[in-house]
Amino acid sequence: MFLLGCVGEVVSRVGGAWRAPLLIPCSRVAKSTSSGAQRPTVAFLRSASQANSRFFSTSTSKKSSDMSWSHRPSLGCADVTEWQKHFPAAAGKRQSPIDLTKGEYNEELAGKALQISYKEARECTLVNNGHSVQVNFKPSIGGLTGGPVTDNFEIAQYHFHWGAGDDKGSEHTVDGKYYPNELHLVHWNTSKFSSVSEAISEPNGLTVLGIFLEAGEENVELKKITDRFDKVKHCSQEIPIEDPICLKGLLPEDTKSFWSYDGSLTTPPCYESVNWIVFRKPITVSKEQLAAFRSLNEAKEGSDPEQHQALVDNYRPVCELNDRKLSTTFEE
Ligand SMILES: [Zn+2]
Repeated sequence: MFLLGCVGEVVSRVGGAWRAPLLIPCSRVAKSTSSGAQRPTVAFLRSASQANSRFFSTSTSKKSSDMSWSHRPSLGCADVTEWQKHFPAAAGKRQSPIDLTKGEYNEELAGKALQISYKEARECTLVNNGHSVQVNFKPSIGGLTGGPVTDNFEIAQYHFHWGAGDDKGSEHTVDGKYYPNELHLVHWNTSKFSSVSEAISEPNGLTVLGIFLEAGEENVELKKITDRFDKVKHCSQEIPIEDPICLKGLLPEDTKSFWSYDGSLTTPPCYESVNWIVFRKPITVSKEQLAAFRSLNEAKEGSDPEQHQALVDNYRPVCELNDRKLSTTFEE
């Protein structure tokens, strides 16, 4: 999953909308001076167009550090093999992603309806944060409850993880098999917390819907995003999305069959705060749409061309399940 910055720059509150974070090759992550634990400079950045202080009430209290990270080896960044050294939570026992095996059929969970309800979203923004490409929402678009969670969770942003080719790219795997791309719809707990930045580091703070993408028919909803990739080719580029976003168009037809487990952010600071729900059935997108993600670049426009690298393989390798329970709502 996600969180902050762009190659070597401090991400800060910028007034306005969800800008979120997620990753950036060399994003900076704040460090709490009292506990020593790393915290995001701003859990979910805002852009200049929107404002709602309720959601960001605590973000300015978090101080930044110079810690930078990346998925692949990159000068001056902690790559994925070094995250545990710099981000203590990454060494925890409930990390994500994991390999999704058959799991354990949970009849009780299968009987609890997962209720997902989104309004048509306007004034969204699309941003290349150097680690992923992300759509940020204004507050009150809707969200989910039910299934494995009892609180209310509101959508904040969504983003993707993908590979250099179609043979890999998803974060979760299914019996060892990769999908070429995985979508994460990130929700935060509005029943227990007053802001995303408060929820992001706390148990039960977030619920993320994981959706696999596979090659097939074009996805019309995704086209609103992929058609704009040329405007956010480089890190830090952000544009408004004029079309209304209809999240239902990114959900699989079957939202009753899923895996569920307790996990973490899949990027630094890797907080163990996420209720994961990964749908069994993928959505289809065209081969061209899958390829479009690889046209993005992880460097800023105008930076040294030698540092320009395609933004690909932004997935974390799977982690051990350890003693966690992997529940499923389907029997075979
Ligand atoms: Zn993600």
